Amino acid sequence: MALETMGPMLRAAKEGRYAVGAFNAVDYGSTLAIVRAAEHLQAPVIVQTSVKTVKFWGCEAIVAWLREIAGRSPVPVALHLDHCKDLDVIERCIAAGWTSVMIDASSKPFDENLALTRRVVAMADKAGVSVEAELGEIGGVEDDIAVGHDDAHLADPDKAVAFCRDLNLAVFAPAIGTAHGVYKGEPRLAFDRLEEIARRTGVPIALHGGTGLSDAVFRKCIALGCAKVNISTQIKYAFIDAFVDYHAAHREYEPLKPLTAQLDRIRKEVAEKIELFGGAGRAGAKP
Ligand SMILES: [Zn+2]
Repeated sequence: MALETMGPMLRAAKEGRYAVGAFNAVDYGSTLAIVRAAEHLQAPVIVQTSVKTVKFWGCEAIVAWLREIAGRSPVPVALHLDHCKDLDVIERCIAAGWTSVMIDASSKPFDENLALTRRVVAMADKAGVSVEAELGEIGGVEDDIAVGHDDAHLADPDKAVAFCRDLNLAVFAPAIGTAHGVYKGEPRLAFDRLEEIARRTGVPIALHGGTGLSDAVFRKCIALGCAKVNISTQIKYAFIDAFVDYHAAHREYEPLKPLTAQLDRIRKEVAEKIELFGGAGRAGAKP
């Protein structure tokens, strides 16, 4: 199939009370592993790239992998640009063939965030590309933010409603107490806010900082309106650990063997998450 946009995928997910997994790929192999996992489960899937990865490989290479892999896949695949603060990078990715982009102007004051997001939505609409935007401060566990405890960093429901009102976002990422990286202990999420924001905005919600949350927390967030769940850190660990573990166990210098171990581990872990999020068998779902 040709690459798809995220909008219809996520509306179908919100209506069906499941979530589409959004996994960060770093190269051709990890992209292939993510899509293979989705194929195995007949699930829609979002392959997302960080700005760092885009700069490392260049837009053309990444789009070429995705077009080749998605082109011979029977499941819907979206190519999404994760957290991007730079409008030039967003513009280049849209021109190259990304079907979805995230503008992250969440560190700016509300009005500036809204204005920047509005510009990206206008740019993306023309190209038929879907948009994700963030409100509040999701941050990283390494940042000095008391995750889940400090209201100041969470998205305010009234502001969330005002933000989403005229933006036509495919998915909205309000800060609800999750963070990027590896949690030190179970984070306390603001479920009441998530519920209120999902209900009052009507927009599918993106859950960031998915790595390390318990199965019960994932299920609760999805039941409350999360339709896109981001898994990045877990893929990084699988990518490195599978390669290193293989080499430590076998001490061979045949690169295709540790690469195979790497793909197998990523595919297995992605498949487990897709199943947990309820995405299996939803490849044909329409909103
Ligand atoms: Zn994120």
